[in-house]
Amino acid sequence: VIEIRDLHKSYGELEVLKGVSLSAPRGHVLSLIGSSGSGKSTLLRCANLLEDSQSGEILFEGEPITWKGEGLHRRPADRKQVLRIRTNLSMVFQQFNLWAHMTILENVMEAPVTVMGRDKKEVEASARAYLDKVGIGDKCDVYPAQMSGGQQQRAAIARALCMEPKALLFDEPTSALDPELEQEVVKVIKALAEEGRTMMIVTHDMRMAADISDHVVFLHKGLIEEEGHPTQLFNQPKSERLQQFLSATV
Ligand code: ATP
Ligand code: MG
Repeated sequence: VIEIRDLHKSYGELEVLKGVSLSAPRGHVLSLIGSSGSGKSTLLRCANLLEDSQSGEILFEGEPITWKGEGLHRRPADRKQVLRIRTNLSMVFQQFNLWAHMTILENVMEAPVTVMGRDKKEVEASARAYLDKVGIGDKCDVYPAQMSGGQQQRAAIARALCMEPKALLFDEPTSALDPELEQEVVKVIKALAEEGRTMMIVTHDMRMAADISDHVVFLHKGLIEEEGHPTQLFNQPKSERLQQFLSATV
């Protein structure tokens, strides 16, 4: 679904991604791990075009992004393509990012109705079904502030699902949560993995990554230091940096 080839990204003088290549085939769960500042969030944001990148290719279902300009001036050339990719690579953030002034149901319905222009009745039915699916079907008319962090994050996942995306991108979906609330969100993510959803997940939760990933990528200072199947990567890490990282996080 997503393929990235030799991606470079700088913020001014600071080169954050130094040539990263990876792919998330249909039905695969790809986890990104690495120390703070290694470029995990940046990579995810470049993948769905929330951030510009200076060189390298991004392909969505085999279709390359078309660019105009070069280097620091490189931008996506086709706004319709950008919109199509953003709605198809739906993102879930650490801080949920729900609209405070909207009920949970309205939050979930917002993008499909206003951005994608889908039929309101139809969207409402699927929004309710997704809220049920993540276990908060009774919270449709509640505002985000009246819910726990775990419930808010599950609402954010329902919102991402309601866009009917081809892949879900998660940026540390459980990091803002207390351990007991974390588990209810992990459960939802595991269920999505079992359904065969394509996902890219930035996470500090090594147990979840080991459980659900088809492939794990360890980023270090903007480069892939090691990658592989979770069993191999977590049990027999080759790189010393990965060994250090894993012993520090357990
Ligand atoms: P964390 O685990 O802390 O979330 P990360 O791996 O997600 O870290 P990124 O957020 O991708 O790391 O940041 C990579 C580098 O890019 C860091 O050095 C960070 O300071 C820098 N950076 C990120 N966003 C910006 C920005 N908007 N402007 C300038 N520098 C940025
Ligand atoms: Mg991050």
